[in-house]
Amino acid sequence: METLEFQAETRQLMQLMIHSIYSNKDIFLRELISNGSDALDKLRIESLVDSDLDVDRSDLHVALTPDADARTLTVSDNGIGMTRDEVVSLIGTIAKSGTAELLRTLREASAESADLIGQFGVGFYSSFMVADRVTLVTRKAGESTGTRWESTGEGTYTIDDVDDAPQGTAVTLHLKPADAEDQLHDYADPAVLTSIVKKYSDFIAWPIRLDGTAINSQKALWARPRSEVTAEEYNEFYKHVSHDWTDPLETIHMKAEGTFEYDALLFLPSRAPFDLYSRDAQRGVQLYVKRVFIMADCEALVPSYLRFVKGVVDAADLSLNVSREILQQDRQIQAVRRRLVRKVLGTIKELPAEKYATFWAEFGRALKEGLIEDAANREIILDLLSFSSTRGSELTTLREYVERRPEGQTEIYYLTGDSRATIENSPHLEAFRAKGYEVLVLTDPVDEVWVDQVTEYDGIPLKSVAKGQVDLGDTAAETPAGFEDFLTWMSGALAESVKEVRLSTRLVDSPACVVGDADDLTPTLEKMFRAMGQ
Ligand code: ADP
Ligand code: MG
Repeated sequence: METLEFQAETRQLMQLMIHSIYSNKDIFLRELISNGSDALDKLRIESLVDSDLDVDRSDLHVALTPDADARTLTVSDNGIGMTRDEVVSLIGTIAKSGTAELLRTLREASAESADLIGQFGVGFYSSFMVADRVTLVTRKAGESTGTRWESTGEGTYTIDDVDDAPQGTAVTLHLKPADAEDQLHDYADPAVLTSIVKKYSDFIAWPIRLDGTAINSQKALWARPRSEVTAEEYNEFYKHVSHDWTDPLETIHMKAEGTFEYDALLFLPSRAPFDLYSRDAQRGVQLYVKRVFIMADCEALVPSYLRFVKGVVDAADLSLNVSREILQQDRQIQAVRRRLVRKVLGTIKELPAEKYATFWAEFGRALKEGLIEDAANREIILDLLSFSSTRGSELTTLREYVERRPEGQTEIYYLTGDSRATIENSPHLEAFRAKGYEVLVLTDPVDEVWVDQVTEYDGIPLKSVAKGQVDLGDTAAETPAGFEDFLTWMSGALAESVKEVRLSTRLVDSPACVVGDADDLTPTLEKMFRAMGQ
């Protein structure tokens, strides 16, 4: 037997769990059942891919086994199981990239920590809210030796080989005494367990058994008529598919009939995961075929800029062993994708102001990527964007900007830069300020990219105030007499640094400024490329 130490980060996270930052302790059961259900899904998929795999898939289920005398509860599944290495890497450490960030955020915002923690998939660790010792015995499908893991959550865990482990995983909780004040119920009581399962896990597709009887209805939520599903049921389902602990911002439930039938149940989360902008951020839509789970992270169904959308699509007419490659090329799947994208964009458009503000703060940057990725929906996306502008601290849509602009302003002006402060101090803005023209302030890195491709909104040109000649309407077309010599002298003096020196009407207070050619890189983009070594 080996005794290993938890990573420092994991230890901190476990302390948070043990000291119960989350008031609703019941949800540990949802987390363990959810893991069991995932493990059964994985076993099914694995045995389809590898028909030689030596597994028993005759009676896949999750079982709850309480023992009132021993004060234990065991949550077991006969799913995929874990190898010893997997136990160490999946259970012993928190491999998720956001963990360090989570801990930093938690230290800064202790008041909201209970909610924050939900974003990090600390699922298994929630066991330590209700147990002072947790034992996990697991055997990976197809392997003969099993692994036993045990911890009191106090910094170390033990790990050992076991010979007679059944296929799958059993998690045994040595329960803390029930304590009504602390919302610690008696988790060895079958009635308590039944009511928790009904509340949080009723829709799980696999049977959840207690005393040999399934206590969940196993009804696929997405296949039920909308009128029969409660908000609470939608929310719990969202938490299961998203591994998020926070309620979703919006639920989208649709049913398509006709040549290609499918049900879709999609959600806009209310918070962005910390890895939304990391290279390996996954897409959140799962594919089912006739109620059977086929794959998570189905990139054929949603474009990357909508990777924050979570949920399920259940198609009636696909083969059960359809591959990712086939899906990417399937015309019907492409049609489903187009329809889902429209529906999601339409839903965002209809969000009430407060929800939209939340949505924008969390996912706005990702949505902007759609201007580049999804040219077909560009016009729709443009209408969903919000911008800072020189007008004040409130955000504006392009529609509002256009409607507000003074007579005579024929273009939409913007300036890109690192920060609002840099932009506000830019001499490029002087003439626009003087004329009362509002300028959009674009500070996201992605702004640099889409402004090159999106040249107009609703027929009105989009124009950078820092590039080319800006025509503010009252320019002297020719150089006023007397300046020629000065310009010639200055062009010569600055020949090493600039292409051309010309008179400008764009300045009011500053004597001079540097501008780019209309098709030059902006300074920020230049910096970005240089940083990437190009
Ligand atoms: P999450 O489910 O969000 O990934 P958890 O902390 O609940 O986070 O679980 C961590 C990982 O441990 C899972 O992703 C899975 O790989 C593994 N795991 C947990 N429980 C089981 C189980 N019952 N069977 C197989 N693997 C499991
Ligand atoms: Mg989990």
